[in-house]
Amino acid sequence: MNEQNKFIELKIKEREERSIIMNLSETESLPKDGSLLMKWHQKDTVAGKKDKELNYATAMMPGYENVRNLSLEEAWGVFNYKNDGESGEQVMANHIDKSSPTLLLPLQAGRCPFDCLGCTFAASFPANKDKKIQQIGMEETRVLIKESLDEAQKKGIITSDIGISFVGSGDATPNPFLEEIFKMIMKEFPNVVRRVRFSTVAGSPKGGYSTPMQVVEKIINNPEYTGQPQISMQVSAHHTNIKRVQHVFSQRIEKSASDPIAVAEKLQKLLLPLPEVAQQFQQIVDAQKERGFEPIRKPTLTFVCTKDTEIDVEALANYGFNKENTVIQLRPILSEDPKDCMSEEVFSSLYNKLGFAGYDVVLMPVSPSGVELETG
Ligand code: SF4
Repeated sequence: MNEQNKFIELKIKEREERSIIMNLSETESLPKDGSLLMKWHQKDTVAGKKDKELNYATAMMPGYENVRNLSLEEAWGVFNYKNDGESGEQVMANHIDKSSPTLLLPLQAGRCPFDCLGCTFAASFPANKDKKIQQIGMEETRVLIKESLDEAQKKGIITSDIGISFVGSGDATPNPFLEEIFKMIMKEFPNVVRRVRFSTVAGSPKGGYSTPMQVVEKIINNPEYTGQPQISMQVSAHHTNIKRVQHVFSQRIEKSASDPIAVAEKLQKLLLPLPEVAQQFQQIVDAQKERGFEPIRKPTLTFVCTKDTEIDVEALANYGFNKENTVIQLRPILSEDPKDCMSEEVFSSLYNKLGFAGYDVVLMPVSPSGVELETG
């Protein structure tokens, strides 16, 4: 439901010759779960260059509760609720928590450099053909948080206790501003933003940059950081073998005329190997222990589960992911067709194996309003 065409014009920055004008061009309330979608337009002007026009979205979403370490039956109910009609909706309604919503924020405007299966922000998604990749920096993020919260408050959404999730509409790996963005949130939104989460497919950063996991570790090690807002890290792994690369570069591989396996093997170097991800997870945990933070916020390894997902629980352990340094998150693919989804039989076997290995397992269902589809 399109409620209005709101237009706020903000000139937020003039850095050398660059100026940015951001407009909140449209808001959409999604009553199914109380989400609010906000669409932004940005115009970048640099002297002597053609103006850049960028579009992206932020969204307020309710949190989920009681989705960790459920019984197998409950877990399957939450995981598969979209395919269970009204009874599924009812199951889901019991896990929605509107008291501490999450603000979804983008890290790139235009398009994401990765090419994940089914993602509308992927670099090779047909509609993104002529769009440029533009990293979103600290000043833009400050405005996005302030304006998004003001807008949410007007719609009656609780904005005094929120989490921020940098997820969708971009990836944390190529954004060089993560540390300054976090510091800005810490300084400008104390007692409002309680949690900040960065998400990434764990690309190999170019030119000696830190990975998002290393940035999180650095923030935790900084004596000025007192533990608020809580910071957490999520890596989307999708599979434990070469299919991880095929998922993250799915749309690029699809377009390529050559042998898909050979292309995937070539692209493999663009992702951080999973043993390195595990090592960096451990460093995040160790940094919290050293600072005396309690409880430890374990990084999350996420699998978007399709009918073809391959998760080898033994391989996870061999890579170095264990119950002390990793939470496993399972989420169903965002698809209208139940045939794309993981079957109950495969889900049950996987869920039992993960539980037996001692992992905390969290479910991240597709949101009832579908707002993630709009933000990535
Ligand atoms: S799912 Fe995330 S990382 Fe992958 S293409 Fe989409 S926005 Fe980028």
